[in-house]
Amino acid sequence: MSKMKIEDYRHKLRVPIDGSFDLSAVNPADTCQVGDKKKAKKDLFTIHERLQMLQEKLYAQAEKALLIVLQAIDTGGKDSTIRRVFGTLNPQGVRVISFKVPSSKERSYDYLWRIHQQVPPKGFIHIFNRSHYEDVLIVRVKGLAPLEQIEQRYDQINAFESYLKDNGVTILKFFLCISKAEQKRRLQDRLDRPDKHWKFSKDDLKERELWDNYMRAFDLVLNRCSTDYAPWYCIPANRKWVRDVLIGSIVLHTMEEMGLYFPEAEEGLDEIVIPD
Ligand code: AMP
Ligand code: MG
Repeated sequence: MSKMKIEDYRHKLRVPIDGSFDLSAVNPADTCQVGDKKKAKKDLFTIHERLQMLQEKLYAQAEKALLIVLQAIDTGGKDSTIRRVFGTLNPQGVRVISFKVPSSKERSYDYLWRIHQQVPPKGFIHIFNRSHYEDVLIVRVKGLAPLEQIEQRYDQINAFESYLKDNGVTILKFFLCISKAEQKRRLQDRLDRPDKHWKFSKDDLKERELWDNYMRAFDLVLNRCSTDYAPWYCIPANRKWVRDVLIGSIVLHTMEEMGLYFPEAEEGLDEIVIPD
């Protein structure tokens, strides 16, 4: 395996826990000094190799779990992140869960009910494509619940995540930050390319009109719900190849510190001879 050093971007991109974060100051086109495209490609390859080994240890050890939350505005790149950063992991140990508009059954319970059922069991990585944060994002922007209830949810979410952390689930949350101009380009691409038409929804244009409201809602989420036990990372995501290395690096360095190892061999393995 390559010995190449992979830069640790956690400190640079971690949202501080003291509420001092200003989303409007983030440059979505920032390349964060990941180097050129060629270097990024090489780094991502190395990241994939190392993540595969770490995942195998996680699975074999079966004591800990990893939950990755992806949130973004429409076209922000959640799907392509899942494919390009996590696509080389062993499918046996990974699940992607996409949270859509809650069904009537889901709506009949508290909002975290459907979420808790999808938390990873020991040994697994679960990737949330959208999450419980929708309940303070779209729900806030569209006024789908009373404001007093929404205001209570930030503390409830922090308590929920703290509980999961105490029970062996490491949590990483990524906000993929693209600019409004980049969203326009990506929506236009969906209109222009027949292979992308299926991704276009006229509703996306209505959502785009609410851009500023969404950014305010994201700013609140990042400031209120970035914690020591479940940090938010704000990823400049206009350039997919930059985004991939940044997220890959953060997952890699986090997993390296999870204390993952292959379980001890059963006693006497060295004496076993496999019969012909
Ligand atoms: P997509 O990810 O494009 O398939 O769209 C899923 C839609 O479901 C998005 O518009 C989300 O905002 C919406 N959604 C997800 N969770 C919730 C929720 N808890 N309440 C309301 N809408 C939601
Ligand atoms: Mg959509």
